[in-house]
Amino acid sequence: MLLTECLKRTGQCPKCRTALTAHELERGIIKHCTICNGLWVNILAEKIALEIGPMAFSVDHLRRFRFVYKSCDWPRDTRYVPCPDCGQLMNRKIWGSHSGVIVDVCHHHGTWFDDGELEKVREYVRLGGIEYEKLQMMENGFSQFSLKLEHELRRLGGRPRRYSC
Ligand SMILES: [Zn+2]
Ligand SMILES: [Zn+2]
Repeated sequence: MLLTECLKRTGQCPKCRTALTAHELERGIIKHCTICNGLWVNILAEKIALEIGPMAFSVDHLRRFRFVYKSCDWPRDTRYVPCPDCGQLMNRKIWGSHSGVIVDVCHHHGTWFDDGELEKVREYVRLGGIEYEKLQMMENGFSQFSLKLEHELRRLGGRPRRYSC
């Protein structure tokens, strides 16, 4: 189904099957379930809804991230539920690597957040979760690179030779 068609349909709450209420944003659409308070965030609306924008954090701040951000540990609904737009069962995945929030995702249409989950992901983003992940990726990449280099040097019989001219 085309995204534009999906925007026009209200759809049903994947959890309690009642009709969702649609709110149009400057970009994309958010649909709300008044019964369970869940939120359907359409792909186009995700950045705005999660308040993702350019932010600067110091490396010191990011190194403290795991102490500052308390990952959530809520009882989880482990059912697979249908996308409100296309009816296909959605994937369950953790938002980011360390938010602890498990959301339901339709890769074509959007993300379902249970009550409170959107606020928790916003907190993750606000405290630097995305930048923290980037820093970790960089550092892991670097340590893998130096590990490889070490292996390679060992294979070649020890330390690199120094050439002098
Ligand atoms: Zn609901
Ligand atoms: Zn879908």
